[in-house]
Amino acid sequence: MTAQITNLINGRRIAPAGPERYRAINPARLDEALSDYAFSTAADVDAAVAAASGAKRTWRETSAIARGEIVAKAGQILRARAKDLGALMTLEMGKPIGEAIAEVDYAGKVLQFYAAEAQRPTGETLQSGRPNVHYYTTREPIGVVGAITPWNFPFSIACWKLGPALVTGNTVVWKPAPHHPLCSQAIIEALLEAGLPDGVVNLVHGGAEVGGAIVSHPDVAGVSFTGSTAVGQALYRAVSQRLGRAQCEMGGKNALYIHTAADLDKAVTLAVEGAFRSAGQKCTATSRVLVDAAIRDDFTSRLLARVAELKVGDPTDGATFLGPVVDDRQFAKVTGAIAAGIAAGANLAAGGAGRAVENGFFIAPTVFDGVGIADPLARDEIFGPVMALVPVENLEGAIAAVNATDYGLSAGIVTRDLEAAHRFARTVETGVVNVNLPTAGVEMHAPFGGWKGSGLGLPEQGLKILDFYTKWRSVAMQFA
Ligand code: NAD
Repeated sequence: MTAQITNLINGRRIAPAGPERYRAINPARLDEALSDYAFSTAADVDAAVAAASGAKRTWRETSAIARGEIVAKAGQILRARAKDLGALMTLEMGKPIGEAIAEVDYAGKVLQFYAAEAQRPTGETLQSGRPNVHYYTTREPIGVVGAITPWNFPFSIACWKLGPALVTGNTVVWKPAPHHPLCSQAIIEALLEAGLPDGVVNLVHGGAEVGGAIVSHPDVAGVSFTGSTAVGQALYRAVSQRLGRAQCEMGGKNALYIHTAADLDKAVTLAVEGAFRSAGQKCTATSRVLVDAAIRDDFTSRLLARVAELKVGDPTDGATFLGPVVDDRQFAKVTGAIAAGIAAGANLAAGGAGRAVENGFFIAPTVFDGVGIADPLARDEIFGPVMALVPVENLEGAIAAVNATDYGLSAGIVTRDLEAAHRFARTVETGVVNVNLPTAGVEMHAPFGGWKGSGLGLPEQGLKILDFYTKWRSVAMQFA
């Protein structure tokens, strides 16, 4: 028995019927089928964009306060259901249950955070050089927004696009990754229960082709994308080419530097949490640990002892640290990178390319020691539970190593030395810097955007992103 999967177009739930199909299985139990459904077609995207265009005016003219109330209520609904929806996420994409529940709760808070913006001023009053002129600015929605999201945060990434888009008065066509259709539908249900009018958010299930139809649609004013760098860069070009707006959060190859003045126990915890939580499938995951020569042996032996203790297996068990990776493609990609590293002579210190637990996409926490800065293991995004230990001589060597990739998402330093922390934070080429914190920690009110190959356009989260979802208007009124 598999679940019924439906698009939502203009308030109607309709099963997509395109020629391409998707079979969702539990990544922790490969014999458990969850859903088997058809992708949407370009005609479905047309219908979704038409519905969003049709709903534009009424939604824009709904008071911001009323829009905010609906979005806040949807956030509250998600948070109240965090336990059940977390379990659904664990089932559909394998995130360990504790992390999954926390993500749903966080996603609800993200909606509440943006809902509160509906009560804040959106423009300014200006002075004028002309007599008797009342001069002010307003921010207006851009129109129909396309949202394209990946599978690694089924709830929070969707909410950090839907929240600001809706509160500022835009209507949305959303295409999530195909792995977790039931999680996507749960977000839609929360919005509908909260009172969102028909057509304001439209859900189309599908893959690259359906995403491509949104990207090229002339009536989609802006596209917000989170996913891989290759897809994001092509998408940004395509949307810009037709003079639309785009905003892309993309891949990372994040480094954590263990400085000579680090608390080594803390450093081990930060490295392990950053690299292996969510099976390394976070854009901000620690995939390189830069280890200072002076503490290398001590740190490495403590790290390997901790890695050996990590519990790999059933993600529904609260004691599990590391669940499966999301699907067969990701399993092949990650184990392929491990095997290539071994074949190239890299020093495998923990884990390996095999299946860590039968009947699931489980990969053991894997550590390579003595990796060179330019090696593929230290250069290419793997997006799995693989850590490259890269020896560096000193702080300057660490900064050079952080900056030696095409990515620029997140970087961290573990140190008690204030000067080293400041020098690192000032000099690394990344949009996020964390000191004595995991590379993967972000808070919703801070701007979050990658540099270099990790991001294009305005950073997400925080309030900067409101400029993506709005356009400014200046109004001058002269009275006699
Ligand atoms: P992906 O690029 O394959 O897919 C992302 C989304 O884009 C999915 O919905 C997919 O169906 C869609 N898509 C794929 N090809 C498309 C195309 N040609 N046109 C339009 N849409 C298309 O990425 P993924 O494998 O789902 O996610 C993993 C990647 O996402 C990693 O690189 C990770 O670093 C990145 N990521 C980045 C952030 C961030 O905030 N920087 C957050 C999470 C994940």
